[in-house]
Amino acid sequence: MIACDCEVCTSANKKDKRLRSSIMVESQNTILVVDSTPDFRYQMLREKVKHLDAIVFTHPHKDHIAGLDDIRAFNYFSKKPMQIFANEMTQEVIIREFPYAFTDTKYPGLPEIGLNTIAMEPFIVGDMPVIPVLVWHLKMPVLGFRFGKFTYITDANRIDEPEKEKIRGSEVIVINALRTEKHVSHYNLEEAIDLVKELKIPQAYFTHISHQLGKHDPVNAALPEGMQLAYDGLVLHI
Ligand SMILES: [Zn+2]
Ligand SMILES: [Zn+2]
Repeated sequence: MIACDCEVCTSANKKDKRLRSSIMVESQNTILVVDSTPDFRYQMLREKVKHLDAIVFTHPHKDHIAGLDDIRAFNYFSKKPMQIFANEMTQEVIIREFPYAFTDTKYPGLPEIGLNTIAMEPFIVGDMPVIPVLVWHLKMPVLGFRFGKFTYITDANRIDEPEKEKIRGSEVIVINALRTEKHVSHYNLEEAIDLVKELKIPQAYFTHISHQLGKHDPVNAALPEGMQLAYDGLVLHI
């Protein structure tokens, strides 16, 4: 955190250096990113990403959409609009926050976006089937996504029973766990652990971690079997 001197913010361990939460999902023929964070540009540079087929959005909070303008580099090289997938609530905010990308008069260098609406039905990006899962971020509906045996959920603190059904059977889950103390709109670590146990998912990684959770190594070492803290640059083969 800016201006913070706590043991996490001053740690020399790379795993304590956390950018805003996002994942890249890659199949045989398709590469997508979930959310374009304020760190999107640096994340793409760090991972040397040369091509992206789509960005899929969980919800319109700034820490999940702010980097969208930087898709212009992908537009430039692919000569195509970036396909984005979002529900109507998120699309409204994106259009309001990046109005210049949606005007009729285009000028060179503007980010080019193709809007695709996520209803609650499964959809396909390239060759990748995606199942949206509705989760609650206090009162805001947020989308989690299931890709085959892998489920990604961020910014949740409650999931209704029928939506839990869509997650069950996953082999790997990434789920948000903000800190040890309770929070109004995010699972804390204990709640996230309980949910993973309830859903019986064998392999879990916690994400959207605040510096208030503590240093990676000791917190990670104390987690139940099959559960780990995610860290920036973590790669999973599923
Ligand atoms: Zn949020
Ligand atoms: Zn967030």
